[in-house]
Amino acid sequence: MPRTVIRTCPLCEATCGLAIDLDDNDRVVGVRGDADDVFSRGYLCPKGATIGQLEADPDRLTRPLVRRDGQLLPASFDEAYAEVAARLRAVTAEHGPDAVAIYLGNPNVHNLAGQLYVRPLVKALRTTNVYSASSVDQLPKHVSSGYLFGDPLAIPVPDLDRTDLLVVLGANPRVSNGSLMTAPDLPGRLTALQRRGGRLVVVDPKRTRTAERADRHLAIRPGADALLLMAIVATLVAEDLVDLGDHLRGHVEGLEQVAALAAPFTPERVAEACGLPATAIRELAHELAAAERAVVYGRLGTTAASFGTTTSWLVDVVNVLTGNLDRPGGAMFPRPAHHRGSRRRAFRHARRHSRVRGLPEAIGELPVATLADEIETPGPGQVRALITVAGNPVISTPDAARLDAAIASLDLVVAVDPYLTATSRHADVILPPPGILQRSHYDLAFSALAVRNVANYSPAAVALDPDQPDEWEILLALAAIALGQDPPVDVDLADAFVARQAIEAVVADPGARLATRDPDALMATLAGRRGPERLLDLLVRAGPYGDGFGTHPDGLSLEALLAAPHGIDLGPLTPRIPEVLTTTSGRIELAPEPIVADVPRLAAAMDAAVPNGEHDGEQLLLIGRRHLRTNNSWSHNVPGLAKGQQLCTLEIHPDDAAARGLDDGTLAAVSSEAGELEVSITVTDALRPGVVSLPHGFGHDLDGVEQQVARANPGVNSNRLTPRQGVDPVSGTAVLNGVSVRVRAV
Ligand code: SF4
Repeated sequence: MPRTVIRTCPLCEATCGLAIDLDDNDRVVGVRGDADDVFSRGYLCPKGATIGQLEADPDRLTRPLVRRDGQLLPASFDEAYAEVAARLRAVTAEHGPDAVAIYLGNPNVHNLAGQLYVRPLVKALRTTNVYSASSVDQLPKHVSSGYLFGDPLAIPVPDLDRTDLLVVLGANPRVSNGSLMTAPDLPGRLTALQRRGGRLVVVDPKRTRTAERADRHLAIRPGADALLLMAIVATLVAEDLVDLGDHLRGHVEGLEQVAALAAPFTPERVAEACGLPATAIRELAHELAAAERAVVYGRLGTTAASFGTTTSWLVDVVNVLTGNLDRPGGAMFPRPAHHRGSRRRAFRHARRHSRVRGLPEAIGELPVATLADEIETPGPGQVRALITVAGNPVISTPDAARLDAAIASLDLVVAVDPYLTATSRHADVILPPPGILQRSHYDLAFSALAVRNVANYSPAAVALDPDQPDEWEILLALAAIALGQDPPVDVDLADAFVARQAIEAVVADPGARLATRDPDALMATLAGRRGPERLLDLLVRAGPYGDGFGTHPDGLSLEALLAAPHGIDLGPLTPRIPEVLTTTSGRIELAPEPIVADVPRLAAAMDAAVPNGEHDGEQLLLIGRRHLRTNNSWSHNVPGLAKGQQLCTLEIHPDDAAARGLDDGTLAAVSSEAGELEVSITVTDALRPGVVSLPHGFGHDLDGVEQQVARANPGVNSNRLTPRQGVDPVSGTAVLNGVSVRVRAV
């Protein structure tokens, strides 16, 4: 029967509601924004509209592949698991558990199975070689939140719908639809901000689509955001404009230390390095101090950069000093519906370091910028096998050509992936997950980053294919194999073990609504459910709005979520300090030692700067960019998104193009210390002189990639230019913005 299903879009952080029309054969024949969705109210972007093409993609794998005599051949899941078991055990028996690395791609956070069942897999592997897309993207924000608030997952987000002044650094939310800030219809929300008399200021080396519509655009030099923010702090302190507000007074320590640290960074001192007039910096500080409700927000341009952690910290320092942290219209902490676990230990970071380069661990993982080193360098702990889950590090991580060769040298590569990508083409075993509509969905990660408290669950809309396990079952089977079980794995037994552990963790948590309850009784109550649904029911019922399995009868449960397909609105963000703070002191620790220790490096950068230095010489600074029709590396095989204008070009300012004899549409060679590539040029005065921009996620023409649409228009991989040596030293996050390159005509 033709029918319409209501689903949350899992493709980006905006979490829009979709109304999807299916025909008799469960094929998607129409997609609309769900007008009744409590959060997105009918908004839909081009990516969401093409979800049917993604589902029907003929390149999507529906059976496992196992390499035999050099060829990837179709196999059953049991055959694939048997291959993994034999070869994984051979690697760990000979080299130990650290010889197996795991890389987790960004789609895991958009996926309920990824959120709930990757962790058991990582634990089962007992490896320290855990890597993810976070270390090319957002680790600085986790580290700074860990130090400031005690919890790396306590990330304040702009209270977008109530603010009077939004200052955006290194982000293009009109195009990206938001990141570390979940807000469906960001274009509409930004327009509403200005319509109600609010102001939008964008700080970015490029006049992006967001900057074009802003009230003010400051075209900063790439990598100088920390200097700008330090100068704002220095101005607030020097001009006696610091005002924490009553709500923060008594909850902040380290204020004097921050004031002393910032003092040398006056607007006049940082102006040259920032490439901005001192008056503009001072004006921005005044504007932030004067606004009744203001918020500073920084994203990828600030986190995938040399001073990533220091910049992320300073974003929140400015929000604290202007009294805008944790107040309506400022930067606020969402209160998601699921139980997140109270932290009972102080945040710890750099508990261990990578074997070869000594880069720090953060939130349990090592920087992916050093994965190639760990594969290439012999010795105890050398990586000999790699498991990827929804990840394509050959495209999305630094020094890509070198990592590509390193992965090709491994004894074993296992990919949980629906495609033969630049990375999974090296796999010995590929285990494809089911399609998007065949999976249930709940945004555990993004409801904790949403500008409004909401809860929205989508059951699977389409049945699994015969013999197709669900994604959580694949992850559990791998975990059981890693623990020594022989396939076929009893997934239900493994799942019951995971559920029992989750229940015991929740009842042991004094912050949960289930504290001190009997685990056996809870297990029995949840017996009718399995997989992610059992865990989600537990977490929602134990959460701050949950029914507590009877103690709060009007509270939430999975049953209540099922009865509300358009989502449940839990209201605007509300103040959470001091309850959200889990630092040792119980206060906001504004001057954490490991971040303070990076300030001398920032001072050196200020002093080393030459006015317009990048423009004087041959070198230019490379930054990335987003487009509404792309999302990292996965969206390029969707015909409806790939058609039209060429998206992967090198943007360059007219002066820099003329100096190199380059015209619009001509081919240029771009080189860095990591490598060289050739790419077509787009000349545009939207960029600051001395800066060039190349989007990430392209480069699909490698031998063995089976993504026909993407191959037809492969673009070039910007990570062939990003050196793996370039990292933010505090978090180990890769520097993808502000990379020195040379550009010449071909
Ligand atoms: S903005 Fe994101 S969540 Fe919304 S429809 Fe587009 S891809 Fe989906």
